[in-house]
Amino acid sequence: MKKREFIKFGGLAAGALIAGCTASPAGEDKMKRSANKRGSSVLKLSFRPYELQLKHVFTVASSSRTTTPVVLTEIEYEGVIGYGEASMPPYLGESHKSVTEFLSKVNLEQFSDPFLIEDILDYVENIMPGNYAAKAAVDIALHDLTGKLVGQPWFRLWGLNPVKTPFTSFTIGIDTPDVVTEKTKEADVYSILKVKLGRDNDREMIETVRSVTGKPVYVDVNQGWKDKEKALEMIQWLSERNVIFVEQPMPKEQKDDIAWLTERSPVPILADEALQTLPELLGMRGLYTGINVKLMKCGGMNAAYKMMTMARQMGMKILIGCMTETSCAISAAAQLSPLADWADLDGNLLISNDLYEGATIVDGKVTLPDRPGIGITVRSS
Ligand code: MG
Repeated sequence: MKKREFIKFGGLAAGALIAGCTASPAGEDKMKRSANKRGSSVLKLSFRPYELQLKHVFTVASSSRTTTPVVLTEIEYEGVIGYGEASMPPYLGESHKSVTEFLSKVNLEQFSDPFLIEDILDYVENIMPGNYAAKAAVDIALHDLTGKLVGQPWFRLWGLNPVKTPFTSFTIGIDTPDVVTEKTKEADVYSILKVKLGRDNDREMIETVRSVTGKPVYVDVNQGWKDKEKALEMIQWLSERNVIFVEQPMPKEQKDDIAWLTERSPVPILADEALQTLPELLGMRGLYTGINVKLMKCGGMNAAYKMMTMARQMGMKILIGCMTETSCAISAAAQLSPLADWADLDGNLLISNDLYEGATIVDGKVTLPDRPGIGITVRSS
């Protein structure tokens, strides 16, 4: 493991790792660790920026990119470390700078009981509005830590059945027929594909996928369609081609058009860009059939759990989604996946420099490791 340069908040050697993880800490960390074996009885947060390298150029309706900035976090308590992550795709408006600035303001040393999760997260929420990826990085590390302290994975603490995890889709970005054909073939082990639409080659994209496979497809338009009549015509065409749902077909501001579309659509219409946090959920009723919940949008596992249980009460469908993330944030989301109808948890599979191992995909299904917390270990190289 390369020497890790975490920014220290709380005095303990940041970047130190708990016993049982596969990585070995840097020498100086080890010295401090042995001098203070049990660690401190207050919570200590540390963090460092990291850049995810994408295996392929990733194109959606509004942009293309080859990297995604993330910030990795650790919360240490009595020698146990919980891991977290903020991922910042461009459209959310967060960055290395904004996340590190936010995390610099977070003083967890005032807390000596990590199980006061509601109090701790209320404090973090009230530091500044917005900054949900940064908040998720604290939330995930806190959940990982508390799960480890009680020796249980979070799916079990929530009483969720790990057998009920959904199958996950594998995302195919907007591209030329040759590349789409190649990516569809590469996705052979997945039983569902998520196809990005919203530029001028929608029918070509779907026809190309269909020339390779007949497996179910989720469609994500990323607000790319502007005309409701054309959108409905397209959705009807898609529904005859084994498309299961259509996500964010039109700009979130076009609420009347979206309500009109949802009422007539033969397949569920899901909110993604239109829905970020729990308080906005009530406003989704009547506009959309379902929601796409992502930890980076809503602020983490605590908020996502509440949002998903409330959406169920409202009779809405649920997709658990992700950004481009390491196995840290993906495994955190996977803990919640038994609550979802569908999953789109492939963000870690799209990158070439994942630092962790955690939830895996077995025969296309999200598979939860029986390890405490969010269930990850640090990769050894
Ligand atoms: Mg989406």
